[in-house]
Amino acid sequence: MHGSVGTEPIVLFGNEEQKRRWLPDLATGKKLAAFALTEPEAGSDAAHLKTVATRRNGGYVLNGTKIFITNAGEAQLYVVMATTRPGAGAEGISTFLVAGDSPGLKVGPRFKKMGLNGSAIAEVHLEDCAVGETDRLGDEGQGFRIAMRALDSGRIGISAQAIGLAQGALDDAIAYARERKQFGRPIAELQTIQNKIADMTVKVRAARWMTWKAAALCDAGQPFTKDASMAKLFATDAAMDITLDALQVFGGYGYLEDYPMARRVRDAKACQIYEGTNQVQRVVIARELVRA
Ligand SMILES: Cc1cc2nc3c(=O)[nH]c(=O)nc-3n(C[C@H](O)[C@H](O)[C@H](O)COP(=O)(O)OP(=O)(O)OC[C@H]3O[C@@H](n4cnc5c(N)ncnc54)[C@H](O)[C@@H]3O)c2cc1C
Repeated sequence: MHGSVGTEPIVLFGNEEQKRRWLPDLATGKKLAAFALTEPEAGSDAAHLKTVATRRNGGYVLNGTKIFITNAGEAQLYVVMATTRPGAGAEGISTFLVAGDSPGLKVGPRFKKMGLNGSAIAEVHLEDCAVGETDRLGDEGQGFRIAMRALDSGRIGISAQAIGLAQGALDDAIAYARERKQFGRPIAELQTIQNKIADMTVKVRAARWMTWKAAALCDAGQPFTKDASMAKLFATDAAMDITLDALQVFGGYGYLEDYPMARRVRDAKACQIYEGTNQVQRVVIARELVRA
């Protein structure tokens, strides 16, 4: 979140002053970034967000509530999407760089979640939160495009996250199957376990290559929206299947918190949801294919 959707919008759309102000500390990790798009009533349908940016005293004041914001309360920078033309949908959205210590930016309590316990999510409340004209990233009305571009490459990162989870689960499942003996021999010699290991390996390989393909297109400056969505959809579904199958190889031990298998299942689930649910990825892929 920090390195991709939190920082990349400034790399791609920031002016020189914004880059000088934020990028050195974000790049070295002295500052942490958050990306604030989702709202209680605008999740998948982000174009209909309600947070409003009203012009005042040569700048803007922001009012609204964001939800599920990763790094909320930890970040020094919030990349906030708000409408400067209420009712105009995607065309009315603008992006603002809001410092974490801005008066009017308040963070709610951390949500308790199913997994990803190394990462905080919370609501962010913007109450007459004043920002300068120079804190607007890009032009008025460009914010939705900025957010979607950030998510395109962010999805490559989510694919990589899913592959890491899946590879770890697979490696542990193979090691365990070689050690665990039942019926007088390692369970790795049972065909049913071998089938699982083979299927898991094929899925990890396919997910990795799809992710590299999307990343290579992105690096080459080629269109990569469809490939990033394909990689995200496939890699995160694969991680869900693989973490569950790997847990099964561990039998009852997989169900214990003493082993990392249950944690991986819980972490994989989030990857199917954030940066666009996997149902939304299908919408993106199909739209790229059928549009004239
Ligand atoms: C751990 C975590 C971290 C997150 N971090 C951030 C963050 O840092 N910043 C941020 O802005 N957001 C963040 N999010 C929010 C996340 O991006 C949203 O939860 C996600 O986009 C879905 O929105 P929603 O939860 O409102 O679900 P909804 O949009 O209400 O969707 C509910 C269900 O309907 C389906 N659905 C909705 N629309 C369609 C459609 N057109 N076609 C088919 N199916 C559809 C969805 O797939 C889903 O199954 C995070 C979420 C989680 C869980």
